[in-house]
Amino acid sequence: MSGKNVTEVVLADAAGIAKAARILESGGLVAVPTETVYGLAARADRAEAVAKIYAAKGRPDFNPLIVHVAGVEQAERYAEFSPGARALAEAHWPGPLTQVLPRRADAALAAAVTAGLPTVALRAPAHSAMRALLAAVDFPLAAPSANRSGFISPTCAAHVLASLDGRIDLVLDGGATEAGVESTIVAVRADGSVEELRPGPLQIGALLVGGNIEAPGQLASHYAPGKPVRLNAIRAQPDEFLIGFGVITGDCTLSASGDLTEAATRLYAALHEAALAPQPRIAVAPVPEEGVGRAINDRLRRAAA
Ligand code: AMP
Ligand code: MG
Repeated sequence: MSGKNVTEVVLADAAGIAKAARILESGGLVAVPTETVYGLAARADRAEAVAKIYAAKGRPDFNPLIVHVAGVEQAERYAEFSPGARALAEAHWPGPLTQVLPRRADAALAAAVTAGLPTVALRAPAHSAMRALLAAVDFPLAAPSANRSGFISPTCAAHVLASLDGRIDLVLDGGATEAGVESTIVAVRADGSVEELRPGPLQIGALLVGGNIEAPGQLASHYAPGKPVRLNAIRAQPDEFLIGFGVITGDCTLSASGDLTEAATRLYAALHEAALAPQPRIAVAPVPEEGVGRAINDRLRRAAA
């Protein structure tokens, strides 16, 4: 345990943002809605604050954190931006795009944020609550998903509490998140090439050249609902809770109309529901491997691993 007993939940209004900013200033942990999933934020410039994230999540220390900033101007204090990286930031920030870039030697970031790597992952989020919080403080925020390491990511305040109640100081409740899956991560190389490290809501396939490189923390088993998961299921076995998609109606559905954007938004809520259901196993209908369907299938494969 991190030593915390009470986790307060407040609305992500002006008073809530002000309270969150005070807690973060003094080195505490606050769960914040973003346009992807809820993040667990701490100030990224203080080693003790960042250490609390790893402790509360039970996150392995080799798994680096994404640093959230207001925009490219702030990001340039922490990383070397090539012209290609700057162009990507200008095109897609604020938004669900994380860039892995060479870390600046003088970057005022706790070493644990980057797990000792010479690179740093940066993102400018679009959610109004996260943006208001970043505007209210004068440091960047390290923020992985607000769940115990390895478990299902949270898309509402109740999911955060289910995983981290008593282990963090505050949850800013901004309702359900929109994109539903974590940000697209790319590495922009010195030669201008862009490599996708993690598929996400933003489709950048057209920009990509080359294959994947190793991304620490992209563990095969992740987002685990604690039960066996069978993929590409057409119908449920008697002991299975079926998550449907399109014409395959299940015990719940990602999207009855077969809409991939809606499916991404509902993915983690469906996995949470399946985890709590009486059936000992989970089955999931096939999801097309196109657009944000790539990110959905990536997370489902890890949930099944
Ligand atoms: P999460 O915050 O849980 O969405 O995870 C962030 C992910 O970003 C990690 O699991 C890493 O795979 C990736 N990441 C963060 N920093 C770096 C980095 N410097 N180099 C490569 N990948 C990174
Ligand atoms: Mg995560």
